[in-house]
Amino acid sequence: MIFNKEISESLTLKIAESVRVKKERGEEVFSLGIGEPDFDAPQELKDAVVKALDIPTNIRYSAAMGLPSLREKIAEDLNTRNHIPCKAENIVITPGTKQAIILSLMALLEPGDEVVVIMPAWVSYIPQSFIAETQVVVKNVDMRKDDYSWDMEALEQAVTPKTKVIIFNTPQNPTGMVVPEADQRRLFEIAERNDAFIIADEIYERLVYGDVPHFSIGSLEEQVSRVITVNGFGKSHAITGWRIGYAVVPPCLLGNLKKLQQHINSNTSTLIQMAIDLAWPLPVEHIPVFCGRLKNRAKLYQDFLDSHPQLSGSHPKGSFYAFMNIGSTGLASLDFCAQLLEKTGVAVTPGIAFGKDWDDHVRLSLAVDERVLEEAFKRIHRFLEEECWR
Ligand code: PMP
Repeated sequence: MIFNKEISESLTLKIAESVRVKKERGEEVFSLGIGEPDFDAPQELKDAVVKALDIPTNIRYSAAMGLPSLREKIAEDLNTRNHIPCKAENIVITPGTKQAIILSLMALLEPGDEVVVIMPAWVSYIPQSFIAETQVVVKNVDMRKDDYSWDMEALEQAVTPKTKVIIFNTPQNPTGMVVPEADQRRLFEIAERNDAFIIADEIYERLVYGDVPHFSIGSLEEQVSRVITVNGFGKSHAITGWRIGYAVVPPCLLGNLKKLQQHINSNTSTLIQMAIDLAWPLPVEHIPVFCGRLKNRAKLYQDFLDSHPQLSGSHPKGSFYAFMNIGSTGLASLDFCAQLLEKTGVAVTPGIAFGKDWDDHVRLSLAVDERVLEEAFKRIHRFLEEECWR
């Protein structure tokens, strides 16, 4: 295949690698680079895996689209909680949300199609678009830098009848913003007018702790037809390594998606699917506790920003990230991250990973203990004072 320059190494995984190397050398690291929850998976889920292991069919292949009973449960859950009018037939269970997105892109894209991505965006949307279709045209639409809201005029201009799909994420990685219903309604109208599909990545959907509630754009349809909602259990239930996610797919794409799944994955781990099925309804008591912690940590971050007038940044209300503007340091984001890690042991993720116009930002993960966060802020403060603003 053609490895276009957009298919670059994942910078988030690269930072994770540098942190691992430093730790192996016995050096102290305060990692705010983490993209997974800092709590243990609920015991019910672990018990369910053990139980599932005793069912002989669970060591075998299973249906490409997913276990029928689990597809049924997911569809029912999305109808009740998020008002997405899907049926079990619309659900495809995939090895992670990442697979749900790339399989959807592969099913959708043809040479010359345009993909509109709202930036800053999760690191894989653009590489995945090019992996799915080498001759795709990706158009970036940047959020407003002052308040990280969607720039509706820019979206109006970017989306044309050539647009095959618009990709966005709410609650958002890397800004922590939750996209309000009104903006999503406008985007839906724009997509409808131009007959474009929408991939709505809602993987952080349960992690909302601010004053903007989560809204699923898929709820604007009477039946699933242009919105592909993708989601998973990794972030809400701290099982990122189990690799399970899903997509809600319009009937017109189901046949091709099935073929792709058959030839690429065969099926998502039967054991893990069965464990989720056995543990259903999934435990959710830990979620408000985690959201409460995230809210406190977002406050610590906000206090840090407030005490440094040279800095600005997003005001997170969901997911577990904050996006900080480091433009006043004059450093490119990769240099900032490399120097910060080297001189202070604090790891953050360069903004350039989330879009070419976001090199003046870094992403901080709030999925870390408050003490780590406080120490990291002290060290970042020292780094800024001693190395950047001298
Ligand atoms: N979408 C977003 C916005 C993410 O942040 C991530 C993981 N970091 C994914 C998708 C991929 O999730 P999964 O681990 O379920 O493949």
